[in-house]
Amino acid sequence: MDRNTRQKRAIASVLRNRANPLSPAEILKFALEEVPTIGIATVYRSLKSLLKDEQVVSVEIPGEPPRYERADKGHHHHFLCRTCGEVFDLKTCLDGIKKMAPPKFRVDDHEIILYGACKDCAPRSKPAKQRSKCCSLRNGAPRIPETKVAS
Ligand SMILES: [Zn+2]
Ligand SMILES: [Zn+2]
Repeated sequence: MDRNTRQKRAIASVLRNRANPLSPAEILKFALEEVPTIGIATVYRSLKSLLKDEQVVSVEIPGEPPRYERADKGHHHHFLCRTCGEVFDLKTCLDGIKKMAPPKFRVDDHEIILYGACKDCAPRSKPAKQRSKCCSLRNGAPRIPETKVAS
């Protein structure tokens, strides 16, 4: 087996064996345990090739560098720990999510990302300021500056 193939396999096996999506730096850390000569450029090169082969997919979280995971996990969602930056897989989805769309709209796909602190970080971190405003409707209509209505 040539060197490139061995390195690519080591990277594929890191992604196969870890439960969570990983950043290139995390992949490098685990791959070094198997192939001590691997460098970050090899990780990027192998990821590119594994993405092309559809063995790996990227996990995109807005404002975050992409993580990578194996492509055969099936439908699932992610949790980002804002304290340590680790991304975790979630086991469940939501029932009836398609009902959120207006009548007669067709929903093809959805994304759900939970933000917070993982079980290691939760005891020693305060809740971050909520970024999403998705629940504002439940707590009353969003505040709109009042305008005088001529009577
Ligand atoms: Zn954490
Ligand atoms: Zn889902």
